[in-house]
Amino acid sequence: MRHKIIAGNWKMHKTTAEAVELINEIRAALSGDFAADVVVCPTFTALYTASSALKDSGIKLGAQNMFWKDKGAYTGQISSSMLKDVGAEYVILGHSEARGRFGVPEPDFTPEILSYFGESDSTINRKTIAALTAGLVPIVCVGETIDERNAGVTDRVVEEQLTVALETIPSEETCKIVFAYEPVWAIGTGEVCDADEADRVCGVIRSTVAKLFDSATGETVRIQYGGSVKPNNAADLLSRPNIDGALVGGASLSASDFAAIVMAA
Ligand code: PEP
Repeated sequence: MRHKIIAGNWKMHKTTAEAVELINEIRAALSGDFAADVVVCPTFTALYTASSALKDSGIKLGAQNMFWKDKGAYTGQISSSMLKDVGAEYVILGHSEARGRFGVPEPDFTPEILSYFGESDSTINRKTIAALTAGLVPIVCVGETIDERNAGVTDRVVEEQLTVALETIPSEETCKIVFAYEPVWAIGTGEVCDADEADRVCGVIRSTVAKLFDSATGETVRIQYGGSVKPNNAADLLSRPNIDGALVGGASLSASDFAAIVMAA
C-alpha cells in the first residue's frame, strides 16, 4: 500500500517572516492530525527559518531545485549538502517552470529568454542522482505542454522524460523517488486535468518505470498529480488508483486550502 504524499510548492512567494506565518497557519489548520506525508517547499531564502518553524510538526521541508555538483565555482547554485544542512528532506526537480515551459504564457519572455531556464532531461538526471546520493527524496516532475497534448504525443513525451531522467539509476534507488505528473497546461491556469485522464497518465508513468526496471519497482513508486489542485477537486483526484498524492502550487499558499487537500488524502 503506497502512502499518500501532499507537497506544497510555494514558488517565488513569501519572505522569511511570511513563510513562518504560513507554516504556523498550516500547523494550526492541520492540528497534527493527518495521515498523509506532508511537505512544504519554500524559496531557498526561507528554508532555514522554515526548518525551525516546522519543528515537531510532522510536516517535512523540501526545496524547489538544486545543482548536481556538491561544491565549486558555480555562482548562484545550491547543492544537495546545503539543502540537507538547512533541514530539507525533499527537493523538486524538473518542474516545468524550471524547464522554461509555462502553463500561463509569460508575454515578456522571448524564446531566447526561455531557453536560458536551461533545465533538460539530462540535467534532471544528474540532479536526481545527486539528490538520491545525498539522501534527499527527489520529486521528479514530468508532463506535456498543450501543443504536445493536442498533437497526441502526451504518453511519448512523458516516457522520454522519464527514460532520460532515470538513466543509470538502479531500481532500489528509483523506488525512493516521488514522481509528479504535471501537465504544463494545467499549472497555474485553474484548468485541472480530468481525474480519469490524470490517473491514466500516472498509469503510463507507472508502466514506464515497470518497463525500465521491473513490475515491483513500478508498483512501489509514488506518483503525484499536479496542476490546479484545489480543495474542490482533490478528493476525486486522490481517490484514483494510480494517483498517490498531489503537488500543489497556488492552493498551497492558503493554509485552509492546503489543509483541506491534506485532509482529502
Ligand atoms: C505547481 O507549481 O507544481 C503547480 C501544480 O501549480 P498550481 O497548483 O498552481 O497549478
